[in-house]
Order: sequence, then structure tokens, then C-alpha cells
Amino acid sequence: MQTSDQYAVFGHPISHSKSPLIHTLFAEQTQQSLNYSAQDVPAENFASAVDQFIARGGKGLNCTVPLKELAWQKADRLSERAQMSKAVNTLIITDDGSLTGDNTDGVGLVTDLIRNHQIELKGKRILILGAGGASRGIILPMLEQSPANLAITNRTVSKAETMAEDFSKYGKLSGGGFSNLASEQFDLIINATSASLSGDLPPLPDTLLAEQGNCYDLAYANQDTPFVTWGKQHGAIKSLDGLGMLVEQAAEAFYLWRNIRPETQAVIEILEQQRG
Ligand code: NDP
Repeated sequence: MQTSDQYAVFGHPISHSKSPLIHTLFAEQTQQSLNYSAQDVPAENFASAVDQFIARGGKGLNCTVPLKELAWQKADRLSERAQMSKAVNTLIITDDGSLTGDNTDGVGLVTDLIRNHQIELKGKRILILGAGGASRGIILPMLEQSPANLAITNRTVSKAETMAEDFSKYGKLSGGGFSNLASEQFDLIINATSASLSGDLPPLPDTLLAEQGNCYDLAYANQDTPFVTWGKQHGAIKSLDGLGMLVEQAAEAFYLWRNIRPETQAVIEILEQQRG
């Protein structure tokens, strides 16, 4: 009996995940025979859950909070962007059952900014707020677009400084704390903190965003996040949340698994309609 190829997203919690819908829409659109499910996997069960999935003939996994670092550790081989980000959101299960780890978050963000929203990165002054896993995942793809400079600002300053040092061979970047921002201006500010998830906003000077600048929050919600609101209040040409990035990182994972690129715009529109 011919069965569909099996894919899944592992996370904890996972019930909120939009990934099954996104990948099901991609599969319909590209006429791929696959099944994509969401599985609640606490960190302590991650390794055995992956092994079971492989034993059942699974073809690929997405990993989300809090499993990206564990996926990085479990992968048998890593792409350069995954190696540097120390986090894996996509596992490709090869025919011999071994795991290739990749991180598609950064390319998802860059695609959403440049292709979907015509926000250029080349030659721009860019600020990333936050030095957690998401921030680490987006730095290399951002540097590949040749910004004028890339600054990382974090509440725990040492984490921003270490991250800037880790990526220093790839481009011009610096790390510091929020108190260093007083006299700075940026063309693009990216919120990669998790502050929005608890309704908070990092402490930002009113003059931080340059004229004609843009804001982007990696977090997404049914209403404007505090950072998206901040951007609108401070003159951003565009102040966006991370829904487009979510779809674009999924499209890149789908491509890695199936070698076919789904069209993302229609899927973004469906998700936009769902949140009203
Ligand atoms: P982590 O827990 O790894 O990192 C959280 C970061 O936020 C840390 O730098 C932390 O600072 C900072 N932070 C938390 N609260 C505050 C606050 N109140 N003020 C200032 N800084 C704060 O989270 P992730 O990096 O995994 O995720 C970050 C965000 O990115 C989340 O909102 C997540 O949903 C989103 N995301 C979106 C994706 C998409 O496809 N759209 C993909 C991946 C992530 P400190 O180090 O000092 O604790």
C-alpha cells in the first residue's frame, strides 16, 4: 500500500502551531503527497521522539521552542547557517536514517523583507534587538545582504557582545546594551526579543528610527504587537510582524525536503484572513 510521506513539527507547547496548515497548503498547491502533523514533545523526550519518527519512516521535521538547540545537537551534519546559529528548525531525514540540520528562519526573514515588502538591506544601518536563538538564526543571512552595519542590542549585554564576536568574520557588526542606543539611528529595527509575547516593549529612545525607516517584529499576533505599534508611532514606513517570516521559513524547509518551491503569497493571505 502506498502511504504519504510523513513530516511533523515538534515543540512544547505546540497546539498553537500554524505549521500543519501552512505545509498542507503547500502540499496541495504543489501536488505533493505528504502528511504533516504537530506533536507535543517536551525537551526530555526529544531524542527518543525523533528516533521513533525516523523508525516509522518519517522524512523530515521542524523543531520549535524549546527544541531548536537540542535539534542542533542531534543532527549528524549541519548547514553553515545552522552551524553558526547553534539552532536547527529543520531536520532532513536521509534514506539511511541520518539527520541533516538546517536553520531556515533567517532566509525566511530576509525573503519576507526583500521580496514581499521591498525593504532593502544592502547599505542600510540595521539594529537587531535580542540575542536569543532567533537572533542568532537571522544574523548570517542578514550579513549576506551587505548592510552598512549590523548592531545587536540585548538586555543581558554580554550575550550581545559574544554574538557579535562569534559572527565578526562574516561582516561589520557590534554588540551592546540598550543604554548605548541614545545617540544612534537605524534604517531598519528588527525585534528579535520575546518581549512582545508578554506584551512588553524593550526600552527604545524616541529618536532611534531614521527617517524613511522600517520596523519588523519576529513575533506575530492577531493584533499589533507592542513593537509594531511603537514603529507606527515613530514614523516607520512599514511596521510589520513575523507572519510572513513564518510562511517563508516554512517554504524554505518545504524546498529542502521536496526540492520544489511553493508559492507563498496565497498562503500568507489565507493566514492574514484567518486573523481578521
Ligand atoms: P529566546 O528565549 O531564545 O530569547 C529571548 C530574547 O528576548 C533574549 O535576548 C532576551 O534577553 C530578550 N527579552 C525577553 N524579554 C525581554 C524584555 N522584556 N525586554 C528586553 N528583552 C527581552 O527566544 P527566541 O530567540 O527563540 O524568540 C524570540 C522571538 O522571535 C519570539 O517572539 C519568537 O516568537 C519569535 N520568532 C519568530 C519566528 C517567525 O517565524 N516569525 C521564528 C523564530 C522566532 P536576555 O538575554 O537578557 O534574557
